[in-house]
Amino acid sequence: MSDAVYQKCINPDCASTYGVGESLFACPGCGDLLDAVYDWDKLFVPDGLAWFEKRWATRANKLDFSGVWRFRELIPFCSEEHCVTVGEGQTLLQQNDPVGEYAGLSAGRLHLEYEGLNPSGSFKDNGMAGAFTHARMVGAKHVLCASTGNTSASVALYAHACALKCSVFIGSGRIAYGKLSQALDFGAHTIQIIGDFDDCMRQVKRVCGDLNLYLMNSLNPFRLEGQKAIMFRVLEGLRWQVPDWVIVPGGNLGNSSAFGKAFAELKHLGLIERVPRLAVINATGANTLFDLYENKGVRFNGGQVDNAVVDGYYQKLNETGYRPHTLATAIEISRPVNLKKCLRALEVCNGVVREVTDEEIVDAKAVVGRFGLGCEPASGASVAGLKKLRQEGVVGPDETVVCILTGHQLKDPNITVNYHKDKQGPYSNVPVEVENDISAIIKALGL
Ligand SMILES: *Cc1c(COP(=O)(O)O)cnc(C)c1O
Ligand SMILES: [Zn+2]
Repeated sequence: MSDAVYQKCINPDCASTYGVGESLFACPGCGDLLDAVYDWDKLFVPDGLAWFEKRWATRANKLDFSGVWRFRELIPFCSEEHCVTVGEGQTLLQQNDPVGEYAGLSAGRLHLEYEGLNPSGSFKDNGMAGAFTHARMVGAKHVLCASTGNTSASVALYAHACALKCSVFIGSGRIAYGKLSQALDFGAHTIQIIGDFDDCMRQVKRVCGDLNLYLMNSLNPFRLEGQKAIMFRVLEGLRWQVPDWVIVPGGNLGNSSAFGKAFAELKHLGLIERVPRLAVINATGANTLFDLYENKGVRFNGGQVDNAVVDGYYQKLNETGYRPHTLATAIEISRPVNLKKCLRALEVCNGVVREVTDEEIVDAKAVVGRFGLGCEPASGASVAGLKKLRQEGVVGPDETVVCILTGHQLKDPNITVNYHKDKQGPYSNVPVEVENDISAIIKALGL
């Protein structure tokens, strides 16, 4: 297997390759991002996606049960004995007309991919199945991550399942309690840094580099390999039909990057005939990708990204002391580490980027809650983004759309309760307070 799989720098001027057994989180040559790359001719690849359906009958095998590893022929960087699973990816693709109507789609067109059903309550578990597998392959003992919350919850869960030491860096104050409680409950060594996510990310990269510890952020190419499986399950849910659009919130841009890689590989392998279009949705208070892609015209350009524009943008953020701000804390990131890979995904999938306000996010989240599944604020961005793209006419009313609901409703109950009790929007469901008195209670029932 080893010569069929390697790591490769995404910078075409460098294109250095490294063994799959190395634990790197940037190209040692030029500092750019690394990909897991396969020489597919040397690997077994099924001749059609329906081949994977046979695994539905063998769910007693825990790798066939896993929503990641039952697609292991499409994530073939490891041998089966290394695969780590805690039962991730038992997710639901729900066709939802009321939410579709809210966003402006015809009946039967909207599907919600509910990643909140993962063991730690977010899509991050898909990636951790991949990254912890790699950590085990390279004999890591201690894993680290920076997190807005869900990464730390997922890392902590997988670390104790694999008996690895784990430390998580969290920006002080900027974490939803549902997520912090998970990291603590799962036993993560939790370090709250006085700063925001971008500060935590900078520090964790330094610490991992200096002390040779294993990094679990989405800079880790093997995490993104696991996250490709979200798209495999979406296709499975659509009986292997490719949707017209996939819409996903964008934070560090790992998910969008993984989706683009999944579709590029499936197309290359002849397993799909066309790729869907991709829409990545930023919050207005953390809109680096939107600004660079839609306003400044930055493109992947075959890997020749205009670094001067990107560097200048970050320079300006530094000079003005800019801090991202959105109540969707999972996407409150202004220096997305996977920017280049996301630009590549947007190129592969003829993508668009939009920004939505916090008000649009919480309204969309409330609609998802009222009519379908419960999600956390960042996930609401995908439905809010769809609504915007419908209003603009970029998405047609009869196109098939998949919105990714990245995390569970109970991750961030404070925002939900505040939205309802303070009547913050048209979907607020204000609780009624009454005297402890039977006639007052009956009156409140409004019968
Ligand atoms: C991590 C996360 C995101 C952002 O995903 P990226 O891959 O970093 O762009 C969005 N929503 C939720 C719930 C998350 O946990
Ligand atoms: Zn390089």
